[in-house]
Amino acid sequence: MTKQKATNVTWHDGEISREDRYSILHQRGATIWFTGLSGSGKSTIAVALEQALYKIGKLSYRLDGDNVRLGINKNLGFSEEDRKENIRRIGEVAKLFGDAGVISLSSFISPYKDDRDEVRELHEKAGLNFIEVFVDCSLAEAEKRDPKGLYKKARAGEIKNFTGIDDPYQAPVNPEIHLKTDVMTVEEEVKIILDHLHTNGLILQPQFTRADEITQSAAL
Ligand code: ADP
Repeated sequence: MTKQKATNVTWHDGEISREDRYSILHQRGATIWFTGLSGSGKSTIAVALEQALYKIGKLSYRLDGDNVRLGINKNLGFSEEDRKENIRRIGEVAKLFGDAGVISLSSFISPYKDDRDEVRELHEKAGLNFIEVFVDCSLAEAEKRDPKGLYKKARAGEIKNFTGIDDPYQAPVNPEIHLKTDVMTVEEEVKIILDHLHTNGLILQPQFTRADEITQSAAL
């Protein structure tokens, strides 16, 4: 855990509680944490899920690797220490979103188990829902997809510390959801996550009757 640097600081509660915020949104805040190799499908699933949630009137927000590295984490690289700090900051941002009532969709390789566990702990201590989604795809398949041409560059030695090539990926041991993207379709993956949100009461007052309608529209 990162140490508290500033002293004499305390959390200041307002007059509106988390439950008050959740009640106006008809949903509970949560962090859906996608982890997996580059090219495994994290961003693709997050985009489809965001669309599916929007269609049933649920507020979500994507926190995506490159987007975050262009802003709040622009001063961080890919060393183990920087990756750690990258994940810590995202975890804190996701926590704030969850407290606000938003379902955040975090798509980061997040290769180290300890870092993910730290984010989980951060949420659990704050009484917030943390759903780890293992976006499981073989290295061979991810490399074949290579949607950003990054594996090619890594194999050519143009990118160092590339997860799966010259940096490790530690698979989740007990994730809430395990998606095998080299055998499932994006529609199936979205449906599994939506079902989880329903079953766990994170989406209240569902404004649809047929789950297959949502997954179909999410695929459009
Ligand atoms: P990541 O965010 O994990 O780096 P992307 O979502 O950017 O990965 O890329 C995954 C690629 O794999 C996309 O081109 C996507 O269309 C493709 N793909 C094929 N099948 C699937 C699947 N079942 N789930 C997710 N992505 C898939």
